[in-house]
Amino acid sequence: MKPTRRSWAEPFKIKVVEPVKMTTHEQRRRAIAEAGYNTFLLRSEDVYIDLLTDSGTSAMSDRQWAGMMIGDEAYAGSRNFYHLEEVVKAYYGYRYLIPTHQGRGAEHIISRVLIKPGDVIPGNMYFTTTRLHQELAGGRFVDVIIPEAHDPASLHPFKGNVDLDRLESVIREHGPQKIPYVSLAATVNMAGGQPISLENLRKVREITARHGIRIILDATRLAENAYFIQQREPGQQERPIAEIAREICSLTDGCTMSAKKDALANIGGFLAVNDPEIYDEARNLVVVFEGLHTYGGMAGRDMEAVARGIEEAFQDDHIRARVGQVLYLGEKLREWGIPIVMPIGGHGVFLDAKAFLPHLPQEVYPAQALAAAIYEDSGVRAMERGIVSAGRNRETGEENKPKLELVRLTIPRRVYTQAHMDVVAESVLAVYEERERVRGLRMVYEPRYLRFFQARFEQL
Ligand SMILES: *Cc1c(COP(=O)(O)O)cnc(C)c1O
Repeated sequence: MKPTRRSWAEPFKIKVVEPVKMTTHEQRRRAIAEAGYNTFLLRSEDVYIDLLTDSGTSAMSDRQWAGMMIGDEAYAGSRNFYHLEEVVKAYYGYRYLIPTHQGRGAEHIISRVLIKPGDVIPGNMYFTTTRLHQELAGGRFVDVIIPEAHDPASLHPFKGNVDLDRLESVIREHGPQKIPYVSLAATVNMAGGQPISLENLRKVREITARHGIRIILDATRLAENAYFIQQREPGQQERPIAEIAREICSLTDGCTMSAKKDALANIGGFLAVNDPEIYDEARNLVVVFEGLHTYGGMAGRDMEAVARGIEEAFQDDHIRARVGQVLYLGEKLREWGIPIVMPIGGHGVFLDAKAFLPHLPQEVYPAQALAAAIYEDSGVRAMERGIVSAGRNRETGEENKPKLELVRLTIPRRVYTQAHMDVVAESVLAVYEERERVRGLRMVYEPRYLRFFQARFEQL
């Protein structure tokens, strides 16, 4: 029999492997209890398939590893900095580069440079570190993402889009002088890796330009966003990913970037801007918080790995396979009727914990409990993106109650095979079939900042 469709596989072959430890159910039951039911507190050794995050966990290519060997570890003026600068100009198009140790270093600096106490920063849904740095600089984040982004069942193809009327009304309410910039993410991590469309971005540009307001892009997963535009937006099918990405950047005034995602590196980040005055300020601050302006907290070899990673990140074959693997896992879960955020995002599959565990109210942390249950079942490590991640209101001290209560299965780039994805899907199904046995949690330790990283829980 001839197959009815042609199979498709990753555009690479495996040259080095890292063996992983296999654990028993009893070992995992103990490990997750000792970790306070927080997957961030597990030892990686006790994890079989690690879908905690796609941040810094990607597999580098032989070309990137070769680049590490030509790291120029000079304190000042490393050759790898100049290579990175050249690559950032070529792929992102901004005029000035400020390297940082990772994305939050760039967020810290741009927030300090642009935000004054009392300012308001509209954005397409918050990201944890981005919003915290805006707040620490005295600003207040205001969500202007379209309402569909908060609805896990909505099939809107661009759930990262800005609600233009809402943006206009925020500008009217506060006045443009109170808005240093609009903070735009592509893709939107907290909405489930959802993209913003070119059409929407062009309109945001029109509105902000009318009021003299800048746009700062969170370019962490720009390549994935560009892929969705190529696949979904009318008239974009023939354009290379790199070209679409460049156009996105051209509609903004600068970007913060975590090189631990798209850029296929284990550490690194940068801030890039067009305005020479902002650059000057940022270059002054980077030496205080990160390192000299030609390394910003990165080793020379890391800057080389990032530069080469960016060149690989915008290759169409790479990004199709990367997002393709995420879609493979998501479609499998959906076929089995497991509630996930739709459409499937670019960097992970998000389980809808509210629908998965309807017997658990949000107060007993259903997503946190579900991530722990999946670990216990199979050693697959996921993470909570719900009420624990959302933290507390800084003024009232009350818990923020996000509409989305999710568990994120995040896929590292080029690390796992399709067989690993099958194991993950089957584990989620096994927990789903016994879902009424998953118990809620009580928080017994709560850190003051970004509590999801270190909070501890007990089973109810
Ligand atoms: C990871 C991430 C950041 C922060 O970057 P780090 O390198 O972890 O400091 C910022 N924005 C988004 C969308 C991210 O996913």
